[in-house]
Amino acid sequence: MALNPLALTQVLPFLPLAQGNIDYETERRGEPDLLQTVLNEPSTTVMLTRGGLVAVPRGQGAKADYANASMRLASLPGAYVLKSLARHPGAVAMFLGGYKGLAGTQHVVAVDITRIDGESDGNCNDGDAGTVDGQLAGYGESGQPGADTAAQADGADMLQQAASRFDWVDLRGFAPHANAREAGQATSAVSLSVWHNRQRHCPTCGAPVQAAMGGWAQRCTNEADGNRLLFPRIEPAVITLVVDSADRMLIQHNAAWNNPTLYSVSAGFVEAGENLEHAVRREAHEETGITLGEVKYLGSQPWPYPASLMVAFKAHALGTDVHVDGSETVDARWVTRDEYMAQIIDGSISAPGKATIARYMIEQWLGHELA
Ligand SMILES: [Zn+2]
Repeated sequence: MALNPLALTQVLPFLPLAQGNIDYETERRGEPDLLQTVLNEPSTTVMLTRGGLVAVPRGQGAKADYANASMRLASLPGAYVLKSLARHPGAVAMFLGGYKGLAGTQHVVAVDITRIDGESDGNCNDGDAGTVDGQLAGYGESGQPGADTAAQADGADMLQQAASRFDWVDLRGFAPHANAREAGQATSAVSLSVWHNRQRHCPTCGAPVQAAMGGWAQRCTNEADGNRLLFPRIEPAVITLVVDSADRMLIQHNAAWNNPTLYSVSAGFVEAGENLEHAVRREAHEETGITLGEVKYLGSQPWPYPASLMVAFKAHALGTDVHVDGSETVDARWVTRDEYMAQIIDGSISAPGKATIARYMIEQWLGHELA
């Protein structure tokens, strides 16, 4: 059964990067030849990632800037991608799961092509052939006789051509315009591919790693290290909308933000050995000098820049005296709903972007959407 994670979230019913309604089919991840099997199914579609971006059909890239545009992922047939994959050991394939389509269960695979440019003669320049997805390694000439010659004969090296054939867009521009399933697929694919591209060696022994478990894990190639199975390291961050006893919201501007009018809510990374509630209270106090009383959970969404999980809370301030730290947070102020909207409309402040959980937290407090 596909589980919509938001089914359990009462307060923030829609978050652009947390819509995954595809069945991950996690029980299949250990299957030998999983990716070949799935890619050979006629109904399987492949989406592409590259440098943290997702591929959309040519011409759709510009739509990310429009309010009401709808966007789709570029979609490739599995069998053709399989041929091309055999020639690109730097590509990483990821099994995203399946959903009920017109032709029964349709499977979705993501392929990351970030590292196919650095290959030569089927090997990466740095000799790090361990980056090949273990389940596809050796599939080329020996695994599928004629695949290479066929690809060369018709000149159809799809993965090589993909960089120029599609538009490439940021997840934050794509997700607010996409349907729930594709937004979820894109979020999974970007999160995994960013991790595969950043972690090329085992953190314990330094040996090269191979993608494993349908792309959801990596395996250390060093037998002496027990071919250790490695999972993505996710970095939790808390984000908190603070209200006072009059239900005013505390908004703040951080020094690191390029947009001088951007005002958002309190946020920061959870420290080692710290629980979420402590991080909420610590961050608010560090940034604005405010001590928090009651803290309530609102929802969460992944934020793969590069590996965060944003965990959202609403908290009641015990006082209203604001003292910003002056280095990270340079301004903070209390606003009523009317004051907030007046400042948004006159342009003196701007709201967080459409893909951010902060925007939905603010809209939930406002009681309506921001234009
Ligand atoms: Zn190792």
